Amino acid sequence: MLGRLIAQITYKEDLMSDPNPEVVEQLRQLLGDQAVRTQPDDFMPDIVLKPESTEQVSTILKICSAAGQALVPLGGKTGLANGHFQTDSELGLSLERMHAIEEVDTANRTMTVQAGCILQTAAEAAEEQGLLLPLDFGARGSATVGGCVATNAGGNMVIRYGMARDMVLGLEVVLADGTIVTSMNKMLKNNTGYDLKQWFIGAEGTLGVITRVVMRLRPHPRSQNTALLAVDDFDSVGKLLHWLDGNTAGTLSAFEVMWPDFYEFITRQGSIHRAPLPHGSAFYVLVETLGSNPEADAESFETVLGEAMEQGLVSDAVLTRSQSERNALWEIRDDVLEFFKLGPIIPFDVSLTIEKMESFVSDIREGMDRLDASICVVFGHLGDSNLHLILGNENPDAFDYGALETLLYESVERYQGSVSAEHGVGLSKRAHLPRSRSEAELQLMVGMKKMLDPNNILNPNKIFSADKIAAT
Ligand SMILES: Cc1cc2nc3c(=O)[nH]c(=O)nc-3n(C[C@H](O)[C@H](O)[C@H](O)COP(=O)(O)OP(=O)(O)OC[C@H]3O[C@@H](n4cnc5c(N)ncnc54)[C@H](O)[C@@H]3O)c2cc1C
Repeated sequence: MLGRLIAQITYKEDLMSDPNPEVVEQLRQLLGDQAVRTQPDDFMPDIVLKPESTEQVSTILKICSAAGQALVPLGGKTGLANGHFQTDSELGLSLERMHAIEEVDTANRTMTVQAGCILQTAAEAAEEQGLLLPLDFGARGSATVGGCVATNAGGNMVIRYGMARDMVLGLEVVLADGTIVTSMNKMLKNNTGYDLKQWFIGAEGTLGVITRVVMRLRPHPRSQNTALLAVDDFDSVGKLLHWLDGNTAGTLSAFEVMWPDFYEFITRQGSIHRAPLPHGSAFYVLVETLGSNPEADAESFETVLGEAMEQGLVSDAVLTRSQSERNALWEIRDDVLEFFKLGPIIPFDVSLTIEKMESFVSDIREGMDRLDASICVVFGHLGDSNLHLILGNENPDAFDYGALETLLYESVERYQGSVSAEHGVGLSKRAHLPRSRSEAELQLMVGMKKMLDPNNILNPNKIFSADKIAAT
C-alpha cells in the first residue's frame, strides 16, 4: 500500500487507466489464459504476464514495443525502493515460471539459473555441491536471482564477497525491442570490449529484462565464528573494523553495527529475543568470519578478539558455540519488522564514509527533535559504509513522511553520501537522485535509457521520470 501512496504522490498521470486492450488480447492468445493474470489484489491490481521462456519474453517485448505498451519486470516483489510498483495502465512481466537451475558447474564454480529462481533455492542448490552462493539477506525466501541482480543487492556478506555485481559472470537480457542478448560468460577474466552485463545490473528493469544469469560460486566455508561485541565509542568502532579486517586473514564476512536504540528495543523485556549482552553500551557489533579450518579459525578468532579487548576497542563480548546461538544473534540483527510496532515508520538505506557517520547521525537526531518526531533507530552494514535508519513518530497524527525524507536526504547530500546504498532508486528515491549524482552523470544515464528503450516502455518512471527523459 505504501508503494501505491508514493506512486500517487509521485506520478502526475492517472493511475486508473487500463492497458491497451488489443495488446492484452494479443498477449493472451500468445501465452494462454493461465499466463495472463488479471485478478486484482490490494497491492497489484493489475495484469501480470507469466512467460515460460526467453523467446516468449522476446515476443512480448516486440508486441509491447510496437504498441508503446509499458511493462514492469517483476521478481519476488520484495524490493524496498518500489521499483516493482505497477500502475493499472502498465503490464507486469513476472519471471516466476522461469525458475530453473540449469547447471551447477563444480569444475568452474559457477551456477546458471533462470532469473525467476528464488535466491534461497539457488543457494541451497550450490550448498548441495559444497559451494557457496554468497548473497544472503532477510528476503531470501521470496526474492529472485533476477530481482537481486536488477537491484544489485548486497546483504550480510558484502564485506567479504561484494554485492550481486561482483558475483555475476554472465547474463542473458531481452531488450525493449525484443532483441535477445545472450552473454552467458563463465570465465573470471574476459576483457573483450565493453562489459555489457554491467549496464543491466542495478538498472532495476529499466534497460532490459534479465532472463538468465551465470553466478560465481565460492568454496563453502567449513568454519564460521560469530560474536556480539559491546563498544564504548564510535572511534573504537572504526578502529575495531580495521583491526579485525587486518587480523583475520581476509575471512571477515560481517561487521554489523547496532546503535543502542536498535539493540535495546529488540531485546527489551518481554521480547522474543534474549539480550546476550547487558543494555547500556554505546554500540553493539555483530562480527563473523568464514574460514576453512574449524579448530585453528576458532582459536585465532578468540585471540584476535582478546587483543581487541586489551586495546580497549571492545568492552564486553559473547562468542557463539553452536548454530542455534549464532542464529539467535542474527535474529536480533534481522528483526527489523519489530520496529513497525513503535508507530508509523520509514526505513532508509544510505551510505556514507565511516568517519562522517557519527556526526551525520547526531545531525539527524537534532533534526528529529526539531520535527518533534520520536522514532530514530540506527543500524547498518558498517563495513560496507552502509547505514540503515528507521525514522518515524509514535504519534500517527504527527507522522510527516515528506519532512522526514527531506531531513534525511538533505543531510546525506551535505555529507556527500549516497541516497541509496543497496536498495536502488525505483520510485521512492527518484526525486533525490540528483543529491548523489551530478548532472553530467544523470545525462549519460538518460542517454543510455533512450538508446536501449527509445519508447520508454521498460519500467517507465523508475529511476527517472518520463518528463526528465523527454527533457534530456
Ligand atoms: C526483509 C528484507 C530484507 C532485505 N535486506 C536486504 C539487504 O540486506 N541487502 C540488500 O541489498 N537488499 C535487501 N533487501 C532488498 C532486496 O534488494 C530486494 O528484496 C531484492 O533484491 C529484490 O528481489 P525481487 O526478486 O523481490 O525483485 P522485485 O522486488 O520484484 O523487483 C525489484 C526491481 O528489479 C526489477 N526486476 C525484477 N526482476 C527483474 C528481471 N528479471 N529483469 C529486470 N528487472 C527485474 C523490478 O522491475 C524492480 O525494479 C531486503 C528486502 C527485504 C524485504
